[in-house]
Amino acid sequence: MTSLSDLPIRADLRGREPYGAPQLGVPYALNTNENPYPPSDRLVKALGEAVMDVAGGLNRYPDRDAVALRDDLAAFLNTDTPGVGLTGRRVWAANGSNEIIQQILQAFGGHGRTALGFEPSYSMHPIITGVTGTRWVNAFRDEEFGLEPEAAVRAVREYRPDIVFLTSPNNPTGTALPLAAIEAVLDAAPGMVVVDEAYAEFRRAGTPSALTLLDGHPRLIVTRTMSKAFAMAGTRLGYLAADPAVIDALLLVRLPYHLSAVTQAVARTALAHGAELLGSVEALRRERDEIVGWLRGEGFRVADSDANFVLFGTFPDRRKVWQGMLDRGVLIREVGPPEWLRVSVGTPDEMDAFRTALKESQ
Ligand code: PMP
Repeated sequence: MTSLSDLPIRADLRGREPYGAPQLGVPYALNTNENPYPPSDRLVKALGEAVMDVAGGLNRYPDRDAVALRDDLAAFLNTDTPGVGLTGRRVWAANGSNEIIQQILQAFGGHGRTALGFEPSYSMHPIITGVTGTRWVNAFRDEEFGLEPEAAVRAVREYRPDIVFLTSPNNPTGTALPLAAIEAVLDAAPGMVVVDEAYAEFRRAGTPSALTLLDGHPRLIVTRTMSKAFAMAGTRLGYLAADPAVIDALLLVRLPYHLSAVTQAVARTALAHGAELLGSVEALRRERDEIVGWLRGEGFRVADSDANFVLFGTFPDRRKVWQGMLDRGVLIREVGPPEWLRVSVGTPDEMDAFRTALKESQ
């Protein structure tokens, strides 16, 4: 039997573990921040018809530049954050925002280059950084998982990174960054600044999007996804907004025809039904605020959340609590600082199951 260590893989990949959030068949999957509401029958039908429409042309390659889809994504962003005035030329799309992040690293990172993040944060940022041969350096968020502009600037001045990752709302903590912190990093950073806004649609009233900073900041990239609020995780569609020159840079590294005709058609159909899909956001926000209140009432520490998940603790043995909940059919996530656990916000029934299982698992 050949094992991985017998193969001549790159030295810097030896000993690494693949990304591995458990995919288990459980009654209550609250571990990967998906939207719990499946598409309506009406949307399922529309998606089926959209696939039928492109199926007859699948002998041909898809639109390599996904022009129509990028126009639709820009139109959505203009409604999400009025006044940004985006066009398809300033939007780029790929297979999930993970692929977007990979393309950014391929274009702006690589050997001899450095990317900086503020932990605890999204685990794929350092993983994709490493896989592209880029050096990863860490700075840290404060006790409340926030980031003071001065602390962020200090880290940027120390490491002089080619790419800075800011995640807002942050995964796994849920905390959003004030624009002042993002602006301070933009002023101090010598390279690109990526604001990962995978959860932006769930932000609380008054929490701004970094999209408002795009004008006048050609080195800012704001990434988004249809996996969360749009309830389309299975479609694999992530995107970004940036200066057109940034998109020209990404064209150098993207694979030709990276977005299949099926993906483009499904994503456009979902966007055309955006009002229905985003309809669940309000309910999920309410459910989130309720679970935050309940957890605090039970005496837990809970990070403020602008996302569709909540980080709570603290547990001297979080593995035991996580396992106890799994034994009761509720899968949550062991992630972030060692004494904390993260739960994705589900339907009211799912959150009832979560509350019951948590009470029984301590
Ligand atoms: N960014 C953050 C902060 C995330 O939490 C996730 C998904 N967990 C992603 C990006 C990637 O999402 P996707 O590839 O599904 O767009």
